[in-house]
Amino acid sequence: MIDAIVFMGIQGSGKGTQAKLLAVKTGYQHINIGDLLRKEGTKDTDLGKQVKSTIQLGDLVPDKIIFALIQDAVSDDCSGIIFDGFPRNLSQAEYLVQNFRVMRVYYLDLEESVAIDRIKGRRVCSQCGTNYHLTNEPPKKDSVCDLCGGVLITRSDDSPKAVEKRVQAFFEETFVLKDFFEKRGVLIVLPAERSIAEIQKQILSDLHLD
Ligand code: AMP
Repeated sequence: MIDAIVFMGIQGSGKGTQAKLLAVKTGYQHINIGDLLRKEGTKDTDLGKQVKSTIQLGDLVPDKIIFALIQDAVSDDCSGIIFDGFPRNLSQAEYLVQNFRVMRVYYLDLEESVAIDRIKGRRVCSQCGTNYHLTNEPPKKDSVCDLCGGVLITRSDDSPKAVEKRVQAFFEETFVLKDFFEKRGVLIVLPAERSIAEIQKQILSDLHLD
């Protein structure tokens, strides 16, 4: 079984940022399901259209589609996987533990109001996907990506209505997974209001990679 590390937390808690940093450090493959789905949603197929409209509403995409995307995404030669945005409900968590050896689940704990403020300021490069935040991590030049010069946009699923739905889905479906993984002895809760560097340091120390 392939080793897996999971990042969980409310939208805006910094899962993606930490997952990316850890992937560089470990050489593990980083799988961000939201990014895979957004890519799928650009395709002019029935599946693409279904995924696009589900994401825009802020609802969860059906599990069957998620499992197929994961199977496709995992590369044969990877030494481990870092999941970010998966699992999001109990049946996905069951799928995860049946198919991967879950080493750790990092739960980034953030108050709802702070999370919503963070999402409101979030911008993403339309070309390379790099994330920015208007106040916490602004680009050097307004609306322009520091790395590739692409235009920065607000993700369509970061609209106030979709954000409300996603936060609701988090509390209704994802939050219970904290217990699920705690019972399995793999859960670590990290206060997500700390700086990116501090949180990463805690993770590396937990994995004995410091
Ligand atoms: P994210 O970028 O992780 O916030 O994901 C964006 C959107 O993709 C979510 O609001 C859902 O519509 C969908 N999505 C992401 N991950 C999952 C998942 N594990 N299961 C179902 N839907 C998902």
